[in-house]
Amino acid sequence: MMDIQHFLTNNQITIDGNAPRPLFNFDEANFPEPVMETIIQCGFQKPTLIQSCSWPILLSGLDLIGIALTGSGKTLAFILPAIIHASHQEFVKPGDSPIVLIMAPTRELVQQIHTVAHQFGQLAQCRTTVIFGGASKEFQRNSLLSGLEVVIGTPGRLLDFIEEGILKLDRITYLVLDEADRMLDMGFEPQIRQICERIRSDRQTTMFSATWPKEVRKLANKFLSTNRIHVTIGNVIL
Ligand code: ADP
Ligand code: MG
Repeated sequence: MMDIQHFLTNNQITIDGNAPRPLFNFDEANFPEPVMETIIQCGFQKPTLIQSCSWPILLSGLDLIGIALTGSGKTLAFILPAIIHASHQEFVKPGDSPIVLIMAPTRELVQQIHTVAHQFGQLAQCRTTVIFGGASKEFQRNSLLSGLEVVIGTPGRLLDFIEEGILKLDRITYLVLDEADRMLDMGFEPQIRQICERIRSDRQTTMFSATWPKEVRKLANKFLSTNRIHVTIGNVIL
């Protein structure tokens, strides 16, 4: 077995908090069969660094702050545990509200996340939809009302649907704030706060960011539990 301290030092990884050890291959994650099949279809050889560190933490139900550069595989780092989390809940019937909520700053990003969530979730019976502004509400409203496990969206349009009573947050127990630094740069802080404050406090929360400035730290302090694990890959701009 690979020496863990060696792995962390060699890859400039810092883990704060009492975290389960990183895993070094996909088998160690014990993903369900359909998820493993999709990983193999994608031709991926091994987890990226952020995936190695994030999966054991998120699969054990802990809160996580993940700081890693763009292109480091953060989407699968939070999506696969989200799919597993949703699959452990009672099956969602038509009209039931979602289990997982993922926020990201732009239409392009939420669509990318949705593509990955759909690709890995469909065989595991995990239904997803994507919500963003600047497009008709009709299709998005109908998809929310049809009953699904995972909702991915930009904060403004999500809040619209929450205020209209179309998107209900009572069953959300897994929350992702992706590209938190960019969401704050784009002025979404009020919407993020309003949404997070309405989600039950016994949820699991994870935040990903490429940078770790004061504003992002404040958001993490407010919306993640105090015994969250903090993982940083490489040198990070503060
Ligand atoms: P980030 O969110 O950190 O910017 P993404 O999640 O968008 O990164 O992933 C970047 C690219 O890496 C994508 O094309 C994705 O398919 C690919 N990728 C993800 N995980 C792996 C892996 N374990 N092995 C190889 N490529 C991967
Ligand atoms: Mg990303």
